[in-house]
Amino acid sequence: MELLRKSGLKVTPQRLSVMNVIMEAGEHFKAEEVYRKLKKSEPSITLATVYNIFRSLTDNGIINSFEVDGTTWFESNLDAHANLFCEKCGTIEDVSLSENSNLLEQFSLDGRKVRSASLVLKGLCTKCSRNSR
Ligand SMILES: [Zn+2]
Ligand SMILES: [Zn+2]
Repeated sequence: MELLRKSGLKVTPQRLSVMNVIMEAGEHFKAEEVYRKLKKSEPSITLATVYNIFRSLTDNGIINSFEVDGTTWFESNLDAHANLFCEKCGTIEDVSLSENSNLLEQFSLDGRKVRSASLVLKGLCTKCSRNSR
């Protein structure tokens, strides 16, 4: 609720329920998944409403979105990091950039600030790479 208020968004019951599901959804989620979960407690909610709420949350910097092969994913982790898409199980794993934090500085931006970055890597997640060994 505080997050919504802080960013100047109206606190509506639907926005709150969406936020609650997001908090439980884990690090990376798709609008359809959140919609399916919400539908149980809020039968009147539509997928379009979920998308609209996600858009306003993204516009206000509460969540981030990125795309993998035409599918839009959302996440609440706003730190600069790369998202590793596992080509075997289809999950997303966060890859920290902290050790290569000068990565963004590699781009020639003439002093302009980077507000956000979306970097998608493809390969195997920790679990799948362990299992394939
Ligand atoms: Zn995997
Ligand atoms: Zn991530």
